[in-house]
Amino acid sequence: MRALVFDRFGGPLQVREVPAPEPPPGGVVVRVAASGVCRSDWHAWQGHDPDVVLPHVPGHELAGTVEAVGAGVRRWAVGDRVTVPFVNACGNCGVCAAGEHQVCPHQTQPGFTHWGSMAELVVLQAADVNLVAVPDGLDLATAASLGCRYATAFRAVVQVGGVRAGEWVAVHGCGGVGLSAVQIAAAAGARVLAVDVSPGALELARSMGAEVVVAAAADGSTDVPAAVVEATGGGAHLSLDALGAAITCTSSVRCLRARGRHVQVGLLPPALGRPEVPMDVVLARELQVLGSHGMAAHSYPALLDLVVAGRLDPGALVTRRLSLDEAGAALAEVGSRPGIAVVTDFAAAPSS
Ligand SMILES: [Zn+2]
Ligand SMILES: [Zn+2]
Repeated sequence: MRALVFDRFGGPLQVREVPAPEPPPGGVVVRVAASGVCRSDWHAWQGHDPDVVLPHVPGHELAGTVEAVGAGVRRWAVGDRVTVPFVNACGNCGVCAAGEHQVCPHQTQPGFTHWGSMAELVVLQAADVNLVAVPDGLDLATAASLGCRYATAFRAVVQVGGVRAGEWVAVHGCGGVGLSAVQIAAAAGARVLAVDVSPGALELARSMGAEVVVAAAADGSTDVPAAVVEATGGGAHLSLDALGAAITCTSSVRCLRARGRHVQVGLLPPALGRPEVPMDVVLARELQVLGSHGMAAHSYPALLDLVVAGRLDPGALVTRRLSLDEAGAALAEVGSRPGIAVVTDFAAAPSS
């Protein structure tokens, strides 16, 4: 099969032929129809994730059709259209028994703990626990975004953040997760304020329903918390660090009003420095500081129902469709262009 491979961290991203995988017991092989290009793939490529073993194939936001089924799989058959959360739970431990699959201590993650979906085929473990059927009428490129950024944003805003209509929601960082969060919070009836350094990203945020945008200077000189407090008449009720950086994390906590909730969504690899969380402010305002890590497969129906009903439109976030040959360049420059890029063409270009 064709796959996007890197042999060293930060090194060349090359498309080449690699052996096609076999389905493991309890798992499946999926023929990839779409694989989103996400900042987490960039972190994997940069060597920020200790799970990644070289050589490696990135990609974890995927949708496709079941190609082969391993021994013991009961719920899935060849040809089924599926997507999957980026956290693949084991399904057997106490955490899974409690329904908290997104933090299973025995989780696997395509594109991190094993080869991912920037390839024609990908292995997914514990298929009966983790696969999600893609409804008819939802195209696979849109479904791919549900596996990581959109579902992650949905859980962060709705389930962990507990958004309520009329509240002010601040979204720090308007990449894929952030734009998804803007759309989801606006659909929930919240008033949304979006922060980013990119005018293009802020324009998209407005089109997703942000009522106020704050343009932050790239050198960090903007007093974002003060701008949020001013625009919202006292601070956000709910604020998300959707980027994962020391400055966005700290700004998100500091921009909250009394009793506000901060949700950490963006990854914070320790290699990039640890944020300062102002615990004096957490104490004085009785803030809640919460983490949100993907979303379990069993939570998808609530999200899919809203998508199918037209209340949410994850497809609006897909701004570019790429071939596998273009994926390496897109991964290397992730974040430099607004919107979500999805690889949808895995065939070799015809030789001329
Ligand atoms: Zn488990
Ligand atoms: Zn992702």
